[in-house]
Amino acid sequence: MPNLEEYRNLEEKLKEQNAKLIAVSKTKPNEDILAFYEAGHRAFGENRVQELVDKHESLPKDIEWHMIGHLQRNKVKYIIEFVHLIHGIDSPRLLKEVNKRAKSVDRVVDVLLQFHIAEEESKFGFDWAEVEEFMNSESHQQMENIRIVGVMGMATFTDDETQVRREFQLLKNFFDQLKINYFTKDEYFKTISMGMSGDFKIAIEEGSNMVRVGSLLFGARN
Ligand SMILES: *Cc1c(COP(=O)(O)O)cnc(C)c1O
Repeated sequence: MPNLEEYRNLEEKLKEQNAKLIAVSKTKPNEDILAFYEAGHRAFGENRVQELVDKHESLPKDIEWHMIGHLQRNKVKYIIEFVHLIHGIDSPRLLKEVNKRAKSVDRVVDVLLQFHIAEEESKFGFDWAEVEEFMNSESHQQMENIRIVGVMGMATFTDDETQVRREFQLLKNFFDQLKINYFTKDEYFKTISMGMSGDFKIAIEEGSNMVRVGSLLFGARN
């Protein structure tokens, strides 16, 4: 069940912190999304390509769709025309594919570099050395149809606040290093996407300016 009261409280808090809310609607029906849409919300996040495509087709066209999950290269083409921001860029090969597809539809597509900050093996993402190598490479210079606008990461799923905080600090540090080394004059490089229902408060304290919140707004998923 959509919790509109929670939504209004959260929006107000995040506004004070200059952080943007992405309402994570994965597995939830269109009518739940519309409840937030009617309350004025426009930014929604999904983690599966097929679901993202279906929802984009059937819901109002002024919704900004965020692809927050792991993206396979062979599926980029299905979302390239409409996706607002791709959070889960975790390899140079994926970036290359996004650039190619974006070029074919004459768009410049915004992306975030996903860093591996959690302890868990299963979480996707770059490490610092890989990103540095990519940023210094020639292939990066040639990608004219993507715009790297920031970083994204997921903390370990744990009750240990100290650990979660440390992982968010690590991501913030990667952001700062990238900004200093590669994006000093780039006004678009400014997004730090970190924080979910269980840890967004810590994320905000550690410098997040974009949170991806699902279950707190939509209720638990099955
Ligand atoms: C599902 C998901 C979220 C939201 O998780 P909640 O705990 O429901 O807030 C955020 N980010 C990513 C990448 C997700 O897959």
